[in-house]
Amino acid sequence: MKGEFEFIDGIRRMFPAPEGMEGIGDDCAVIPQHSGFETLVSTDMLVEGSHFLLDDITPWQLGWKSAASNFSDIAAMGGEPVGSFLAVALPQDLPEGWTDSFIDGYKAISEQYGFPLLGGDTTASQDRLCICITVLGRAPEGRSKKRGSARPGDLICVTGTLGDSGAGLQAILKGVKRDETVEKLIERHYLPHPRIPEAIRLASYEGVHAMMDISDGVGSDIRHILEESGTGAVIDIQALPISEGAKAFCKGQGLDPVEIALCGGEDYELLFTVTQEVEETLGVQHTVIGRITDSGRLEWKGADRDYMGFRHF
Ligand code: ADP
Ligand code: MG
Repeated sequence: MKGEFEFIDGIRRMFPAPEGMEGIGDDCAVIPQHSGFETLVSTDMLVEGSHFLLDDITPWQLGWKSAASNFSDIAAMGGEPVGSFLAVALPQDLPEGWTDSFIDGYKAISEQYGFPLLGGDTTASQDRLCICITVLGRAPEGRSKKRGSARPGDLICVTGTLGDSGAGLQAILKGVKRDETVEKLIERHYLPHPRIPEAIRLASYEGVHAMMDISDGVGSDIRHILEESGTGAVIDIQALPISEGAKAFCKGQGLDPVEIALCGGEDYELLFTVTQEVEETLGVQHTVIGRITDSGRLEWKGADRDYMGFRHF
């Protein structure tokens, strides 16, 4: 494996700082401030065995996916990208070329969504691989979208489809034969796309109230909006946007597509609430799945059970 300095030098060459910023190479990155904006910061740790299985995910996919889940937190606030920081603790027995491929995946998504890598830290691990990513974004002052802003009467919406990633994970865990449909679901699990352009667009509407990204599944994530906003909600099971691929996969495997859609997690779609008037004018693909109420309770229309979503512990 490469030495620490060789590794950092390689990263530095691959990620030159954008015009006007200081990135990798000094003690700190230097980022100019823009008046009228607020800074969004989020950090996430990924631990081998808990968040990914090294034998299963390729290094390129891991580089992409670990960045994607972080970039998605900036999208969740309606922010635009500023940059990212990458800290890694690397076991010394990683296969030849592993780190290069990991960084290639990280670079691909950074370029696609405009998050320059501005710094980080590199250390050896005696045990498992750990990845800690910090992302920075910005939003016009007072305009970032929080979880606590939902109001009774708001429509609850999601972008994209729900459950593809969860179905992909089931396919991986069960070792299901990989036809075209299954490949697509697995791709949504390993190579999620943070909804950055959609989020920036949604943030421009004052009538979009609360927003977050879907990482643990709507069954879990909607509760955060309700708790922070002090509201209830009704979610219509029939309205959930479940892809044809996920439905077909669930049918073949004897799985409940609604369970996968609500509890599977890692969709990295946006979950937001919006006034009825503004919903009709939104220039972003979305599906209405329910409504915010003043009941203080979460109700599932069309189901006689509860859905919880994923929890780490
Ligand atoms: P320091 O002793 O100041 O922490 P380092 O040797 O750890 O310096 O890092 C040197 C430079 O390389 C810093 O600018 C740091 O941000 C950057 N860097 C180190 N590791 C990474 C990494 N994994 N990804 C991106 N930048 C990194
Ligand atoms: Mg350091």
